[in-house]
Amino acid sequence: MRIGVLALQGAFHEHQVMLERLGAEVRQVRLPAHLDGLDGLIIPGGESTTIGKLAVDFNLMEPLKTFAAEHALWGTCAGAIFMAREVGRPQPLLGLMDIVIERNAFGRQVASFETDLDVPALRHLNGGGKAYHAVFIRAPLIEAVRGTAAALAALPDGRIVAARQGRWLATSFHPELTQDDRFHRYFLEMAQSKSER
Ligand code: GLN
Repeated sequence: MRIGVLALQGAFHEHQVMLERLGAEVRQVRLPAHLDGLDGLIIPGGESTTIGKLAVDFNLMEPLKTFAAEHALWGTCAGAIFMAREVGRPQPLLGLMDIVIERNAFGRQVASFETDLDVPALRHLNGGGKAYHAVFIRAPLIEAVRGTAAALAALPDGRIVAARQGRWLATSFHPELTQDDRFHRYFLEMAQSKSER
């Protein structure tokens, strides 16, 4: 598996470390040509407006959309915002996933927190039965999933924090900042299912 990590801004290095631990070959993506030959791409957390502006400056918007039409894509936190169709304010978006995002949904006081999630989609993986401990940092909420997008995980009050649409994955939280590699394994499976087709 050859996986790219968009390396314009944010927590890309942590994704790289986890993917390499799982045996994937990792390439940092900063230019359109860096997408060639990849099986999937992760867009990291950071600051979604900055990532969007840099993607525009580096002429990556169209190449990323073209790549996403045929490959697995996963956005964590700011990356999830960047993949969404609607975030309720003007900023550059890939506009791929049929999800509505509320940025910084948890306010200042509880901007960062950790909580256990039940994620049925991870259950088939080795060690998949146990709760998933998720780290949220000035996180967005997925206010709504539409069309063929579906929720993968929600907080105890029902608010959605992970969604999937075909081979596109969005998580409000940061699996790369934990030692739990189940979401990365789940994503590698998604990327694999394409390359075998
Ligand atoms: N608050 C950031 C944004 O709105 C996302 C934070 C993160 O990626 N950890 O873009």
